[in-house]
Amino acid sequence: MPDIIQLLPDNVANQIAAGEVVQRPASVVKELLENAVDAKATDIKLIVVNAGRSLIQVIDNGVGMSQTDARMSFERHATSKIRTADDLFNLFSNGFRGEALASIAAISHVTLKTKQENQELGTQIQINGGEIISQEMISKSTGTSIEVKNLFYNIPARRNFLKSNTVETRHIIDAFQRVALTYPRISFSLIHNDNEIFRLPAGKLKLEKGNLKQRIVNVFGKKINEKLVPIHEETEILRIEGFIAKPNYAKKKRGEQFFFVNERFIKSPYLHHAILNGFENLIPHGYHPSYFLYLTVPPKSIDINIHPTKTEVKFDNEKDLYAIIRSTIKHSLGQYNVAPVLDFEKNPSLDTPYEYKNKDVDSPLVHVDPDFNPFENEDRTKIFHQKKDFKPSWESLYANIDNNEKDDTSLNLFDNDLENKSNTTFQIHQKYILSTIKSGIVLIDQNAAHQRILYEEFLKKITVIGIGSQQLLFPKEFSVNKNDVQIIIDLKPDLESAGFQFDISKNEIISVKAIPASLKEDQIIDLFEMLIDNIKNEVPNSNFSQFDSIAKSLAKSTAIKKGTKLSIKEQEEIVNNLFLCKEPNFSPFGKKSFITITTKELEDKFNF
Ligand code: ADP
Ligand code: MG
Repeated sequence: MPDIIQLLPDNVANQIAAGEVVQRPASVVKELLENAVDAKATDIKLIVVNAGRSLIQVIDNGVGMSQTDARMSFERHATSKIRTADDLFNLFSNGFRGEALASIAAISHVTLKTKQENQELGTQIQINGGEIISQEMISKSTGTSIEVKNLFYNIPARRNFLKSNTVETRHIIDAFQRVALTYPRISFSLIHNDNEIFRLPAGKLKLEKGNLKQRIVNVFGKKINEKLVPIHEETEILRIEGFIAKPNYAKKKRGEQFFFVNERFIKSPYLHHAILNGFENLIPHGYHPSYFLYLTVPPKSIDINIHPTKTEVKFDNEKDLYAIIRSTIKHSLGQYNVAPVLDFEKNPSLDTPYEYKNKDVDSPLVHVDPDFNPFENEDRTKIFHQKKDFKPSWESLYANIDNNEKDDTSLNLFDNDLENKSNTTFQIHQKYILSTIKSGIVLIDQNAAHQRILYEEFLKKITVIGIGSQQLLFPKEFSVNKNDVQIIIDLKPDLESAGFQFDISKNEIISVKAIPASLKEDQIIDLFEMLIDNIKNEVPNSNFSQFDSIAKSLAKSTAIKKGTKLSIKEQEEIVNNLFLCKEPNFSPFGKKSFITITTKELEDKFNF
């Protein structure tokens, strides 16, 4: 047999590498902006045309490159930023792999113009699909400009996978904002299709924190100013700086969650959870707090090398970081009187059954306490929050739902001493369930409440127990949008643990063979559509959010709808199960699941 193994030609190897580095136009934006920062630029301009499909250009006033370096920069594994493997553990630059320019050039038309300060003339290089077309001397100001045109022109599969211009532009803006928020001392601008979308002047204040605040305001608008609470903590293993938004400004959509470690934007579902936990239940379920947190840790204690696009890092001491972050958030919320000053009219999350147990109906619910500090007085926070012990991972949140962890307070909500059980609930217009409580009456939205019950059940089953599945007699087939099929492919393992079995054919036909036991056949298509929608609005690559989306979608499709008549027994089951939930106040989509009217309020109405 002849030998058959050969080394791949460089341009092929680069194209393959490009698949990892460049997923979409926003990846190019990120790499080019980071290169400009690494080149010590103080002014960086990003120009984008047609959501990056036609042009992505970054112009900087950094150190520039020599003629030889300009050529070298497009070689794979060519970098000026590290020399030995040891340098990897002491990184002070964004880049280090030396792959970005080689990868980008392999799949687009690139023009590089660059000049160093001490040079008379600069260099211009044109590269198409990794091949050098021309190199010449040009006159140019100090710095570098890189134009990337016709991205993915030679990889149609990639090009076809791109989402709509709106979506791709959104990703570009995200990438831009992340870099801009990392470096408040650098001025940035973004021009898209000739419109200036951002002009962010360089911060000139002595205090970096002031610059940061100004940058956040310039990026997100003046209104955010009043929402920000400063964060500061310094321990032996880390320093935290930055801002969080007050809980009553939490949003339904995610988007303003920024977490930086040693000047790198990263995603960490684990530490995100620590932040949420710091907010405890000050935020209704389904809402997301905004935060801008900057961590500094010893470079040796993190490994940023585990992911090619580098938004994930590995920490040596994740558990300690979790605890510190959580308590720092709590502390700041307490210090700035945010926790107790919430507007109760507007914030129903605090309208929990606990108040009925612990407080007189008549007394105002909360007084402003300037000395409030959640650390000193844990008990006090318990009045407002559901019991939630420090549990370091999201799995454990749902792991012990049934350990008879019956919340005595929620049981006490109801008149246990009522003899005649059949009279305790009443259905109104096939929409609401009325029941009496000690202090008055409670009206439950049957759909929202049932969604909440099912959601918590599904989440527990998917993550801990596993959902039983039923085989279909005939596979159910339907087609999904070309752009969305990837979402389903990504979700497949998670959907399988939720009881689905299905195949995906080449022409985007999904053929479902088995479904979770609780689902009906005619709900399948709705469910997939909802799922795709939910996933699009969540942060990618977080397992938790995927399970969460599946559980939410399942709950929504299978919950009892409005207009369904319920037997007394069914009504009671909803009432009882709702108040055994961890977060009974809201449906998984943030809709109120019940309201209460106190006897006092009723009396007032009659006595008017
Ligand atoms: P990396 O950033 O990982 O080193 P890149 O492929 O992004 O790899 O860049 C290769 C090299 O090209 C960099 O190490 C740097 O020396 C040089 N370079 C890239 N962009 C610029 C720029 N805007 N200004 C100056 N030098 C640059
Ligand atoms: Mg780079």
